[in-house]
Amino acid sequence: MLIIDGKATAAAIRAELRETVAAATAQNRRAPGLAVILVGEDPASQVYVRNKEKACAETGITSFAYRLPADVTQEALLDLIRELNGRDDVDGILLQLPLPKGSALDSQACLDAIDPDKDVDGFHPVNVGRLSLGLPGFLSCTPAGVMELLRRYDLSPAGKKAVVVGRSNIVGKPLAMLLARPGRHANATVTLCHSGTANLAEECRSADFLFLALGKPNFITGDMVKPGAVVIDVGINRTEKGLCGDADFASVSQKASAITPVPGGVGPMTIAMLLNNTVDSWRKRTGA
Ligand code: NAP
Repeated sequence: MLIIDGKATAAAIRAELRETVAAATAQNRRAPGLAVILVGEDPASQVYVRNKEKACAETGITSFAYRLPADVTQEALLDLIRELNGRDDVDGILLQLPLPKGSALDSQACLDAIDPDKDVDGFHPVNVGRLSLGLPGFLSCTPAGVMELLRRYDLSPAGKKAVVVGRSNIVGKPLAMLLARPGRHANATVTLCHSGTANLAEECRSADFLFLALGKPNFITGDMVKPGAVVIDVGINRTEKGLCGDADFASVSQKASAITPVPGGVGPMTIAMLLNNTVDSWRKRTGA
């Protein structure tokens, strides 16, 4: 049974990006720039933003941090986004979600205001549309990280049955679309499951490739998994015993031929893909 090591894969991607950036800046090209906007003081969001800034620094990406009070107005936030859209030294704009609970801020309107060509989170409707049309554009970082793991481990769902559990806009839905695209590391026959799915266990058991993004700790057990299936667990759940995935690792790993652990599976790939999107944007914008 193969344990898919997302931590090592993400470290390799980050090293590759660091080299690309270092080679360009050594020739006096400007460094890539990522603007990160954090509204309010949610402790989890503060940690995510700090981790992203640290990852940028390690890769040679300049991060521009904007920490705004929870009572910032929609207009002030939109003004900042418009200013960043127009700046030459900013290649990517990231608005940390969720926006503070109870505020009057409209997160969709803020995401819509980001220039789609600086939308390194891949949440703008234009990029979601590009994905569904098979056009180039920024991909949402977590599903992009899953696809990169398939590529780097040469796990091919082509011609096989893939089941995605969870239909959120940031994970399940874009992942299902990516898996249904042509290509050696996609081209799957995809079923997208959600809380209205009639017989989830049966759907999961039919999967050669099973992708879990429900947010329910240890929910998918070994009896719901086909022998030899590849299981990619996107779930990150905090429990009294620490972090765990949506798969019950002990029983699922008895059945699977390959599985991502939690932590250390898909999680580290998300930031690596954010850095990758930022470097891609910088390449396009500067010709590096
Ligand atoms: P979400 O927005 O809460 O969506 C969960 C999805 O799972 C929904 O579509 C929901 O169905 C479905 N679902 C919930 N319970 C179900 C059940 N019993 N049977 C079938 N479907 C069920 O969650 P998310 O943002 O996609 O995140 C999912 C998990 O991934 C979370 O644990 C999150 O922490 C993790 N995550 C990890 C990363 C990473 O970097 N690795 C990034 C993002 C998220 P309905 O639509 O019918 O309600």
